[in-house]
Amino acid sequence: MSEPKLRYSSKINKIRTIALSLVFIGFIIMYVGIIFKSTEWLMVTLFILGVISILLSTAIYLWIGLLSTKAIPIICPTCEKPTKMLGRVDACMHCKQPLTLDENLEGIEFDEKYNKRKYKKQAENTSK
Ligand SMILES: [Zn+2]
Repeated sequence: MSEPKLRYSSKINKIRTIALSLVFIGFIIMYVGIIFKSTEWLMVTLFILGVISILLSTAIYLWIGLLSTKAIPIICPTCEKPTKMLGRVDACMHCKQPLTLDENLEGIEFDEKYNKRKYKKQAENTSK
C-alpha cells in the first residue's frame, strides 16, 4: 500500500500537532479516570498515564524549541512569508510549498526520503 503523497506539512508544524494532541489525550485519559473514581487503582493508573502524556508533550515542546534554533530561517519563494526548514527537504509552514536546500534536489519531486541517512549515503556514492 502506498501512502498518499499529496499533502506535505512542515516538520515543525507536524511535531507541534503531535504535542498538542498529546495534551488532549492526557486530559481525556484523566477525565476517564474521574469516571472510574469508584475503582481507586484504575483512577490512579489513568491519572498517572494522563500526567505522563502531558509531561511528554511538554518535553516535545521543549524539543521543538531546540529544533527551531537549528532550523534554517528562509523566506518562502511562493508565499513570501518567513518559514523555517529542518533537514534537506521540508515544506513551507504557511503554504505547504515543498522546499529544498540542496541544489541537486531542485525540481525533483518532494520526498521525505531525502532526509534519511540511507538516501544521503546513496547520493554520496553515486556522485563519486
Ligand atoms: Zn510558503
